Amino acid sequence: MINLKSKVVLITGGSRGIGASCVKYFAIAGASVAFTYNSSKLQADKLVKRYSKLTRIKSYKVDVANPKEIQNCVEEVMNDFGHIDILINNAGIWKEGRIDKMSLAQWEETLRINLTSAFLFSFFVIPSMKKKRFGRIINISSTAGQRGEARYSHYAASKGGMISFTKSLAEELAEFNILVNSVAPGWVWTDMSIPALSDKKSFESEIKEIPLRKIAQPDDIAGPVLFLASDLAKHITGEVINVNGGSVMCG
Ligand code: NDP
Repeated sequence: MINLKSKVVLITGGSRGIGASCVKYFAIAGASVAFTYNSSKLQADKLVKRYSKLTRIKSYKVDVANPKEIQNCVEEVMNDFGHIDILINNAGIWKEGRIDKMSLAQWEETLRINLTSAFLFSFFVIPSMKKKRFGRIINISSTAGQRGEARYSHYAASKGGMISFTKSLAEELAEFNILVNSVAPGWVWTDMSIPALSDKKSFESEIKEIPLRKIAQPDDIAGPVLFLASDLAKHITGEVINVNGGSVMCG
């Protein structure tokens, strides 16, 4: 039922984890896929090799902390693919920072990579979406942005910001048929969370808080992202889809 054959998607942080699952799902759905990587060139090359059998796919090296690199990336994708229909702001970091120990540089790094990059990608992509009167933007937030997270206030602030950013753009861009939504994962098995979840004690305490008693796989997040990008979700905008096994139930 989901067929994205005429669509071009740009996925940030597509080299690993949730982003790599999104690359897979969008390629299978027939979209032309542009995705970014920063340090994981090998993984990015493997994905391009694997999915170029299915669709047109290309990776772009971008440090999303760098505004100029973001602008160049969007321009290159436009030159290569002609347009961008779907933008998935996914690249992110999660580094511990107790409030009394956190440097300004650490705070700014997280805000820049997790939130400002979403603003910049949107800023550069939206004009062409407006012209086409079609667009889908999906921002990956987090349960941390909904309920806060001790020792990660910078991360929680970036993800809370992602949610408000999503709702603001949804209202502002609705008249152009640009739908803006967010997916808010809870714990997901990726490189980001494996170090924390590998500790038996913290795994057991986290799993107790999840009614489904399971940690999500990256594909569990990519599915709802694909749904939001599809025509099945054409009357949904400004929404936050919780994909957390029931750990945070907010409407
Ligand atoms: P991973 O650590 O597995 O992957 C992170 C991705 O972001 C990689 O592709 C990485 O690229 C990219 N990235 C990181 N920093 C930069 C940078 N400076 N410039 C460009 N790309 C960068 O993380 P996940 O897949 O787990 O996370 C994806 C998103 O999901 C994030 O926004 C995260 O906050 C969110 N999330 C994750 C949860 C989890 O439990 N895993 C829970 C809730 C939300 P490369 O490797 O090429 O450098």
